[in-house]
This record gives sequence, C-alpha cells and structure tokens, in this order.
Amino acid sequence: MDKQIERIAQWIAEAKTVVIFTGAGLSTESGIPDFRSPGGVWDKYNPEDFYFDNFIASEISRWKYWQMATEMYEPMKKAQPNAAHIAIAELEKMGKLDCVITQNIDNLHVRAGSSPERVIELHGTAMSVSCLNCGKKFNREKVQERLKEERQAPYCDVCGGPLKPETISFGQAMPVKETQEAYERSSACDLFIVIGSSLVVQPAASMPVTAKRNGARLVIINRDSTPCDTMADMVLHDQAGPTMTALLNCVKRIAAG
Ligand code: NAD
Repeated sequence: MDKQIERIAQWIAEAKTVVIFTGAGLSTESGIPDFRSPGGVWDKYNPEDFYFDNFIASEISRWKYWQMATEMYEPMKKAQPNAAHIAIAELEKMGKLDCVITQNIDNLHVRAGSSPERVIELHGTAMSVSCLNCGKKFNREKVQERLKEERQAPYCDVCGGPLKPETISFGQAMPVKETQEAYERSSACDLFIVIGSSLVVQPAASMPVTAKRNGARLVIINRDSTPCDTMADMVLHDQAGPTMTALLNCVKRIAAG
C-alpha cells in the first residue's frame, strides 16, 4: 500500500487541477451510517418509501420520511469531522485542490476547514429545511422541536406547503447550478479522486466517468469495490481516514523536497 500511496501523492504533486469526490463512506468513521453497508440506512428502511413522488403524494409517506430523516440527522448533528475530512481540508490549504464534489449532506467538509465555495453539495444539505411550495427557509433544529410536539409531518406557517430538509430524494430534480458546476470541474481536472462512495447513485456516479473520458487520472479509495474500479488508474480498498492521513503526509514530504 505504501507504494500506491506514494504514487497517488506523486500524481497530486504533478497535477494542475485535482478534484475530490466524496460519498457517505467518508463519514462512517465520524459515526454516521452510510446507505448500503451492513448496518447502513437501507438495512432499516425501504428506499422506495422515500421517493420524492411519494413524499408529495401522501401524508403517511411524508411522516415516514421525516422519521427516517430525523434518525439520520441526529448522529449528523453530533458528528465531528474525521481524519479524512481534515486531510482533504489540508490539501486545499496546500493549494492542491480545485474543489470537493460531495454527495454528503452532513456539512462535515466545511466543519473540517474546507472553504464553502470549494465544496459542491450535489445532494443538498440536511442542515436546513424549506417549504416545497413557497421556498421559505426554516431552522432545522426548530423544525425538529415541532416534530417532537406535533408528531406529524411539518407544514409551512406562511402558505401551508410541505416542509422538507434541503436534501435531494430519489426522483427529485438535482440542483441545476451545483450539477452543472460538478460536471464542468470533473471535465476540466487532470486528477479525480473518489473517496467513500459505492458509485451507484446517478447522476453523481457519472462524474468519475466524465473525468476519465476527458483525460484525467482516476483514483478510487473505497472499502468495497465499485462499478468504476476497472477504469481507474489506481484502486485502494481501504478505510478513508488512515489512507487519507498517509496520503497527506506523503504529499507534505514531496512538497518539502
Ligand atoms: P453508499 O452508502 O452507497 O456507499 C458508501 C460506500 O462507502 C460503500 O461502498 C462502502 O464500501 C464505503 N465505505 C464505508 N465506510 C468506509 C470507510 N470508512 N472508508 C472507505 N470506504 C467506506 O453511499 P454513496 O455512494 O455516498 O451514495 C448514497 C447516498 O448516500 C448519497 O446520495 C448521499 O447523499 C447519501 N448519504 C449521505 C450521508 C452523509 O451525508 N454522511 C449518509 C448516508 C447517506
């Protein structure tokens, strides 16, 4: 593994534009379960209950959605950035990173020190809530308090529309600006590093393919295999935290000459 880390560090040193792409696996070491690992969110819930169409169509689905969303939000609120988030923020400070494209909704990149303007949140954020009808924003904590008292899905105090965390559900439109920017950055980089993603959720999972097709080197750091492993220049099936710490140390050694 040391040789592979050295090679990736060398690629970072040589690259003009590095993009890091992250998924739920980056935050499991912070105590937030991912979706697809054993013990992950889909061991407890049926993904079909959380399609956006169902959220719109029925009060029962909205309440089920809020129960799952609450269960995911509680560990996110308490979680601290781990060694991988911190190493990514350090790489940015060293001038090595163009941006982080993240599928995560937990705000841990920014809390670890990544600049908000360099973090593209493809699937939104769990830290705020808005009305699907009029767009009014709500403080998530206050909405969570209301849920405890009212024991039903929350509605807007202005227009009566349904409230939803500002995350993207299955079947919900992707945020236009973020998606466009993510594709542009993926196309323009010369090194694209995936960390902690199963690479099965579309369109996010097409970003590494876009990068590779446009000539970038592709590195995948993920505990389990992914559909993109065969096209990657390097694959490490390992834990994100220790791997990113070792990589950062190696990049620092190279920078120090
Ligand atoms: P996923 O659950 O499909 O896959 C996670 C991958 O991470 C798995 O392949 C697993 O092998 C790997 N992994 C788990 N722990 C790891 C570790 N410590 N080090 C290295 N690899 C590890 O997640 P995904 O690909 O991000 O896609 C699913 C969706 O999950 C995204 O839309 C995202 O919004 C959502 N999600 C986000 C959070 C979060 O914000 N923390 C949590 C759960 C789900």
